[in-house]
Amino acid sequence: MSDYPHLLAPLDLGFTTLKNRVLMGSMHTGLEETQDWNRVAEFYATRARGDVGLMVTGGIGPNPEGSVAHGAAMMLSQKDVDNHSIVTDRVHEAGGKIAMQILHAGRYAFSPDCVAPSAIKSPISMFAPKELDAEGIEKQISDIAACALRAKQAGYDGVEVMGSEGYFLNQFLVTHTNKRTDEWGGSYENRMRLPVEVVRRVREAVGPDFILIYRLSMIDLIPNGSTFEEVVQLAKAVEAAGATIINTGIGWHEARIPTIQTSVPRAAFAWVTKKLMGQVNIPLITSNRINTPEVAEEVLVDGCADMVSMARPMLADADFVAKAAAGKSDQIAPCIACNQACLDHTFGGKISSCLVNPRACYETELRVDPVDAAKTIAVVGAGPAGLSAAITAAERGHKVTVFDRASEIGGQLNLAKQVAGKEEFWGLVDWYRAMVKKYDVTVKLNTEVSANDLGEYDEVIIATGVIPRDPQIPGQDAGNVVSYIDILNGTVTAGQRVAVIGAGGIGFDVSEHLVHDGDSTTTNLPEWMKEWGVTDPADHRSGLAPEGPQPHAPAREVTMLQRKTTKVGKGLGKTTGWIHRASLTMKNVQMIAGVNYEKIDAEGLHISFGEAREKPQVIAADTIVLCAGQLSDRSLADALEVKGIPCHVIGGADVAAELDAKRAIDQGTRLAAAL
Ligand code: NAP
Ligand code: SF4
Repeated sequence: MSDYPHLLAPLDLGFTTLKNRVLMGSMHTGLEETQDWNRVAEFYATRARGDVGLMVTGGIGPNPEGSVAHGAAMMLSQKDVDNHSIVTDRVHEAGGKIAMQILHAGRYAFSPDCVAPSAIKSPISMFAPKELDAEGIEKQISDIAACALRAKQAGYDGVEVMGSEGYFLNQFLVTHTNKRTDEWGGSYENRMRLPVEVVRRVREAVGPDFILIYRLSMIDLIPNGSTFEEVVQLAKAVEAAGATIINTGIGWHEARIPTIQTSVPRAAFAWVTKKLMGQVNIPLITSNRINTPEVAEEVLVDGCADMVSMARPMLADADFVAKAAAGKSDQIAPCIACNQACLDHTFGGKISSCLVNPRACYETELRVDPVDAAKTIAVVGAGPAGLSAAITAAERGHKVTVFDRASEIGGQLNLAKQVAGKEEFWGLVDWYRAMVKKYDVTVKLNTEVSANDLGEYDEVIIATGVIPRDPQIPGQDAGNVVSYIDILNGTVTAGQRVAVIGAGGIGFDVSEHLVHDGDSTTTNLPEWMKEWGVTDPADHRSGLAPEGPQPHAPAREVTMLQRKTTKVGKGLGKTTGWIHRASLTMKNVQMIAGVNYEKIDAEGLHISFGEAREKPQVIAADTIVLCAGQLSDRSLADALEVKGIPCHVIGGADVAAELDAKRAIDQGTRLAAAL
């Protein structure tokens, strides 16, 4: 008997059966836009081979005005049908099923031609939409229906109609965006007319026996969003109009409440889907922050849904389902919900990948093939760069030994995992441990190696990481000044008033760590909901608590500083930076930019501003934490060079300025794939 009987149970839809309860949710990877259809097909086929029950493609536009941006993928012509057929054929050959998502972005479209129920610009858009007239609305409906028919002709097993996250159909539903006074606005009956009509016309176009998923926003998390009564009314109408399955959407893109990032508790919104269970007769899918088979199984056992959507976890590990079914869930590369290589890439106009799995979306290019002749490889440094290189090389058949002077593997990941809201990093280190074991990598911990120890290996990889930069502030040798390492690894407990020097990724992490006391809200859903002002949408429209966010009192008074005059936190991730800033602002962390560090003494940190060193002031602090960036630790690489022993230098040891796990893992994996 499997460990996940509910998750792995087939789902009979009457005319077809899904092999299990796992949906790979839609993701905008940017692959379809490359027009490299072999690459697109390989991305989806790899996941089909990994046994996911049903996949949904990235959002495909039904027409130019509705597509997310100029140049975004659309399904408009016979040529598009032919291209998409390459994908569906490959997926079917691999034994999978795939539905195409039809995404009309409405006012979220990055285009001056965008359209919406009313001409109201969104806070996250550059362009104000044009208000559609009745003829324009009819055109959108028929374009969506025609798009669905083409998807069927292209061989898809179904379509998903995107009705949530604040996109076009969602915009008709709520008075926040729909101020119309005709039959498409006003009463809820009128406001839901468009989504329901779209479902009806799509069903009419594709006929029976074709999967039609409707993605329904169950908790909008914006002012004047839907009530739960309206959600139920819509779900019933969508079912009656011909939907096969209802998928859950959580929060509009413009909502100021995090919904998928790493600090959001696992399965944080499954309870919302559960409220709809039993109200309709078609299967429901739940979503958001479900990233292990254990959590997915639990959600199903708890009766929250009939099926579970996991999107980013399928980037992290294409074989998620197959490994779960084989009893190897410790080998599933975990999605840590960082967004660094997926959503941040999408919003930066780059193709998505995955921080923990650089092969994601690069299936045709980054190949990890077995080697003919095994080499002996020494890897010095068991951080993300070294470990990725080690397991990739060992997977290919090389004989790998990893050395680290620390007593456990993980490097800087072991610091990150101490931060409240970054608990997922524990799982990542555990995964490396499982993979090192699986591929029989020899790991020598508590071992300091010198150049003399490395001469016998065929290849030497130096992944020795970084050393903290010395900011050379007069007085910094005083006892009240500590490194971020001492704070995060717990060797020093900070005083009540803390000044944090440096506002990069680590300055933010340290500040977050310092203002938290007790358990992280990421592991306590009711507390997290209170912190962000989320409540039951049956009690309050849209799921917004009327009292707003109610964070815990900060454990310390923290001031975070930087010398740059730019906005503090500007360099953080595109889709996560706002959350870090909001979270620290809620904890009264003072963020000061444009400072000169004058000196440190018993009073605290003395600063001034500008070239003229004006406005001197003292930040009274019991503890001053240095988070002033990093320098590469190249001492071993230099020693090897002196001895004439060639080596590869990767991760922070190579480039400290961009020290981050995404770059380190990518570099380690690519190097090992080429050795
Ligand atoms: P960073 O992002 O480069 O930030 C360094 C900070 O130090 C900046 O605020 C910089 O601001 C300041 N600084 C630079 N030189 C200084 C000097 N001489 N004196 C005083 N201040 C100085 O580096 P980081 O914060 O160390 O993070 C590096 C990367 O690690 C991040 O981008 C992130 O991806 C990753 N990260 C790692 C962890 C982890 O635990 N390992 C955690 C979070 C993030 P000014 O120059 O304006 O003063
Ligand atoms: Fe998950 Fe981060 Fe990978 Fe995105 S980049 S799939 S959030 S681990």
